[in-house]
Amino acid sequence: MSVCKTTCPYCGVGCGVDVKRDGDLIAVSGDIDHPANRGKLCVKGSALGETLVPNNRLVHPFVEGVRESWDSALETLTTRLMQTIDRFGPGSVGFYLSGQLLTEDYYVANKLMKGFIGGANVDTNSRLCMASAVAAYKRSLGADYVPCTYDDLDDAEMIVMVGSNAAWTHPVLYQRIEAAKTENPHKRIVLIDPRRTATADLADQHLAIQPGSDGFLFGGLLRYTNARDLIDSEWVQAHTSGAQEALAAVADLSLEVVSRHTGLSIAQLEQFYAAFANTERVLTFYSQGINQSASGTDDCNAIINCHLALGRIGQPGMGPFSITGQPNAMGGREVGGLATQLAAHMDFTAEDVDRVGRFWGSDRLAQAPGLKAVDLFRAAADGDIKFLWIMATNPAVSLPDSAAVKTALERCETVVVSDCVRDTETNRYAHILLPAMGWGEKSGTVTNSERTISRQRQFLPPAGEARADWHIVTDVARRMGFADAFPFESPADVFREHAGLSAFENNGARDFDIGALADITDADYENLPPTRWPLPADGRSEEHLPAFFADRRMRLVSVVPRLPDVDEDSSPSTREFVVNSGRLRDQWHTMTRTGLAGSLARHRRFLSASMNPVDLERIGAKAGEVILIQNATGRVTAIAEADAGTKQGEVFLPIHWSDCFSSEGKVSGLFPGVTDPISGQPQSKYARASIRPLKTSNWTYMVVADDSGVSPVLDSAVYWSQVRIDGGLLMIVAGGDPEVIASRIQDDLGEQRPLSLSSPKANYRIWAGDRVNCAMFSCTRCEDLPEPSWLESLLTRELPRRRWQLLAGYDPGVEDQGPLVCSCWEVGEKAIRAAIRDGADSVSEISESLRCGTRCGSCLPEVRSILTSETAAPAPDEQTA
Ligand code: SF4
Repeated sequence: MSVCKTTCPYCGVGCGVDVKRDGDLIAVSGDIDHPANRGKLCVKGSALGETLVPNNRLVHPFVEGVRESWDSALETLTTRLMQTIDRFGPGSVGFYLSGQLLTEDYYVANKLMKGFIGGANVDTNSRLCMASAVAAYKRSLGADYVPCTYDDLDDAEMIVMVGSNAAWTHPVLYQRIEAAKTENPHKRIVLIDPRRTATADLADQHLAIQPGSDGFLFGGLLRYTNARDLIDSEWVQAHTSGAQEALAAVADLSLEVVSRHTGLSIAQLEQFYAAFANTERVLTFYSQGINQSASGTDDCNAIINCHLALGRIGQPGMGPFSITGQPNAMGGREVGGLATQLAAHMDFTAEDVDRVGRFWGSDRLAQAPGLKAVDLFRAAADGDIKFLWIMATNPAVSLPDSAAVKTALERCETVVVSDCVRDTETNRYAHILLPAMGWGEKSGTVTNSERTISRQRQFLPPAGEARADWHIVTDVARRMGFADAFPFESPADVFREHAGLSAFENNGARDFDIGALADITDADYENLPPTRWPLPADGRSEEHLPAFFADRRMRLVSVVPRLPDVDEDSSPSTREFVVNSGRLRDQWHTMTRTGLAGSLARHRRFLSASMNPVDLERIGAKAGEVILIQNATGRVTAIAEADAGTKQGEVFLPIHWSDCFSSEGKVSGLFPGVTDPISGQPQSKYARASIRPLKTSNWTYMVVADDSGVSPVLDSAVYWSQVRIDGGLLMIVAGGDPEVIASRIQDDLGEQRPLSLSSPKANYRIWAGDRVNCAMFSCTRCEDLPEPSWLESLLTRELPRRRWQLLAGYDPGVEDQGPLVCSCWEVGEKAIRAAIRDGADSVSEISESLRCGTRCGSCLPEVRSILTSETAAPAPDEQTA
């Protein structure tokens, strides 16, 4: 059996993956040799094999909805592109790229736009992920340089996790931190997050700050270190500038002031500040929770300032460590695939433009930064962007103010989308749709959060007519007349040029230098092991301190903290709740890929909104009912979930649902497109909204088999949400009339009559031929909905000899396990609680008896939290007292 070493296409941890293939059988496991994960994979990585299915794959080019040959589609694209440039200039063209592209794809797209079209409107969905971290590094270090590695997580004595639910979003790093803490119980973990998330289980201290008050917390820390004479003045004087101004900016941030803004007690602040200031090896691990803010750049600089004031940078186990959300956000940054960079960590100075122009052999280089993501789509809505090429991303769902994005896509004269997925919300607006290779088909490199370049290798033939993105763009460039500058025949050709540009006239002046790989052979490229940059051709060693300004000093940046903008024009009722958004454990982005894996759907099947139980009661809603979250820019309907870890006055919504998966699930629509003035990153963790229950009198679960021909009509529903399961789809519908839904299903299935059974509480209907095509369970109260596992099982099981047995509802062979906790071994919450009641009194004993957590380990924080809740529960006699 052959083994292909490749890289996971999801988060920025960048785990190495071994793919074993035997005919159609594909087995995925962690690469024991990869430094990022040392053989581990989280639940999403472990389920990669399940996503390699033909469902919803885009396999042919389409122009205006009609299938075309590649030649014809690319000719149409090129003609429209050149006509747009001729009529309106290069500024009328925009490329919107993605952290899911490979570095080679990014490089060719960036080169075409900035080098040959001559505009700079090339931005990326990475703008939504880490643009604030980039801007802050550049302001402090002089370059977009991440000054930490994963080894530092092992070496640190204290790790401060800010705005990161790593237990769910970066599980392999979370488990690495957990293992290091087990090894060294004195390692201190502090979590800073308004919510009590799964990550809090590992924390010695959880600081549940007011949303968006991080700048006050870290500004206060800087002042605290100064007030107690803890600043390393000698070091600061030798290696930094700007300290006096930065200290002056935080002079008013007394403990009392910080306490007022953050909602933390003075005792909590003092405990955290003293620990930070007095720990030599302290590392701050931060992610989208801090980046996705209108003050994200300043907040990141507030963190970096503290590390610089204490000299906690540039040595093992310390430093400000930004963790990226996407698999190749870093590769895009290296290439310069952001509107604010030119290429290879060069900006738009006259010197850089001249240098890159000479390297590319072009005299038509873009001279100034282009439009950042949100502004790019606003310009399309205003009619200034006439041609928009979107690659490997779904901005109709992921960008804020999605109603405005929809308008932009409707108004833009030519929208091109290259993607591996056929039906996404964005693709519905495409005039030209191009099939791109997906994971396993494409070949190239990605860079993870610690600057390690890894190969994504091909182990599958392309689906249908799919092509690599770099190949598609190269073809267009050649048709535009730039064949000499785009001679690429393979990803290795592209990579060599990318590496060559990084080293061109560098001589140590720029941090990003992989010149040692500029002449890499095809064979060495194919076998390239994980490699961390910098990697200059002359073998210069890495700088001890990450100081890239000409004076080789790092900068403390003057930061005056501020709270998130609130729309004061809206009425108080629409400002009642703070909306926070984030990722779930088992899903990725807009679910176009993870949504294909039935096992990943069972952790959280449907779109739900987490609220504090006190708030739920106050608005008159119960857990399990539908609530409407609404503000001036959008609305979301979701199932209410009671979560004591969510603060009163806040609601947490997962980002994954779109109109393809739910009735009104686009959380991005609630965020009004407020951006950080420096980085342009949208504020996606803070909006104001009103919330009210939507009382419904009908609830339906429905399973629909693939190829059954059934397409449920749900226009009368108040809420619906669906997930892929083995063999088809599982849907929940609230408020739709079951009789109307059933009659439309009957229309689809013609002669096939349903088995049906009614009781005072519920109705079952099952349409079956040789197999179950469709089944419905309807009731009038949400609390009468059963755990849907038994319904799901109908699609994959053999029919009983006596079919009426299907109507018994519960199949004795299908155990109701409650919500799934361990996706790898399919262990539900009820089984875990039962094991605890049977005497398992530690996570390891539960794992031993049920196997949960023994494979990828992603569920262990939840197992621990169930254990805590069970052991904290009152004794039965107390409950009845
Ligand atoms: Fe993939 Fe999980 Fe590793 Fe992230 S932590 S790269 S999602 S396996």
